Amino acid sequence: MALNLYNSLSRSNEIFKPIEENQVTLYTCGPTVYNYPHIGNYRAYIFGDMLKRTLSYLGYKVKHIMNITDIDDKTIRDSIAQEKTLAEFTEFYTEEFYKDVDSLNIIRAEKYTKATDYIDEMVTMIEALIEKGFAYKSEDGSVYFDIAKDAEYGKLSHFTLSDLKENAKGRMANDEYDKENAQDFALWKSWDENDGEVFWETPLGKGRPGWHIECSAMSTAELGDTIDIHTGGVDNMFPHHENEIAQSECATGHPFVKYWMHNEHLMVDGKKMSKSLGNFYTLRDIDKLGITPQAFRYWLYTGNYDTKVNFTIEAVSGAQTALERLYSAYREVLDTDNGIINTEYKDRFTEVLSDNLNTPKAVAILWELVKDTDISSSDKKATMLDFDRVFGFGLDKVSAEKPIEIPVEVSALADARTAARNEKNWAKSDELRDQIKELGYEIKDVEGGYKITKT
Ligand code: AMP
Ligand code: ZN
Repeated sequence: MALNLYNSLSRSNEIFKPIEENQVTLYTCGPTVYNYPHIGNYRAYIFGDMLKRTLSYLGYKVKHIMNITDIDDKTIRDSIAQEKTLAEFTEFYTEEFYKDVDSLNIIRAEKYTKATDYIDEMVTMIEALIEKGFAYKSEDGSVYFDIAKDAEYGKLSHFTLSDLKENAKGRMANDEYDKENAQDFALWKSWDENDGEVFWETPLGKGRPGWHIECSAMSTAELGDTIDIHTGGVDNMFPHHENEIAQSECATGHPFVKYWMHNEHLMVDGKKMSKSLGNFYTLRDIDKLGITPQAFRYWLYTGNYDTKVNFTIEAVSGAQTALERLYSAYREVLDTDNGIINTEYKDRFTEVLSDNLNTPKAVAILWELVKDTDISSSDKKATMLDFDRVFGFGLDKVSAEKPIEIPVEVSALADARTAARNEKNWAKSDELRDQIKELGYEIKDVEGGYKITKT
């Protein structure tokens, strides 16, 4: 069965054919480590993970690279504000990112490339662009990409330069701007006082890279001139991915990416979830609402990756309930012997995945399987585990032990105890612990919260 994927470049579904048979090179634009990513960002990374899992499920060997943007306008700005070195500041958020990746059961990339480790490669690529006439130095010593020299500029975002001739004359020093402002963009930013101690002395002068060149240089260094699939959120299509294409193709002379895949946005009240709008939740926020990272993943799968989804606490709580039901169903077959994967279900599952990763249908098939009384428990277990290679719900980690149900009054006391501890009111905290004990439960403090067990 052929795998069909929607390619943003051609704006059509295409039969996937990797450059090398049975192998796939995959690049996902990673986080800018200046803060905790929000769950909208995690939609992009869960999409990349689900795609990778599907490719592996279909028998491809996947080489996946994700970058860590540890040098850009925002990391510099906030590290200076916090009086930390850039490395100290970004290291913290990079580690927090890895923790989130693990808690979401995202399969780690082959390598997470830090932009600051690839400055030489970036400089080499910029030098090639200058040499070939696609880039030039401005008065302040920065280097800009000359979009008028690139006849194909705009091919991903689907515009032509002649339509933009009014705006296409200027220069854009910022990394983020909209399509109407398409202009020559910065490859190398010469040092100014806002950069503080952050700079590299290179043949291009004293300065630092622009954001877009980072991904071009890291992708080429790790995966070669042409890669199979590049993913990211739709907001990255312009200018980031458009500029990546321009830089890479003009520097190497080869096509940069065969299949561009973009996930749609996670919305809140009809608006894109974003840091700038302040309408965002982190994994830590949803955890406080009793929503696990896996339930968030489950909820995402109930919509196609390429459609907008609207985040509400009610909707994701519904996914939490559904996922717990799935875990219970799995517990019922957990103790059976090794069974055989049901081929009829597997074929149907493969077919919907091959249709541009139709996860809503894949989830529906999983539930059909769960409810099918004609399939033996052992075969059901084998098939559920097989499907979970794609879903990543962590069925293999589900234990036979049922999670204890915590009565509402016990969790209310536990929350009151957390509040008392935050206020350093230890006497009250102990008192609440005793009250919890009287109800037959024990509370223990663990990293990032508490754990309740039955006494
Ligand atoms: P950024 O750190 O802003 O570059 O974002 C990291 C990734 O998250 C990129 O692939 C973005 O396109 C994606 N992204 C940002 N906001 C959202 C959102 N609300 N929904 C889905 N993806 C998003
Ligand atoms: Zn990127």
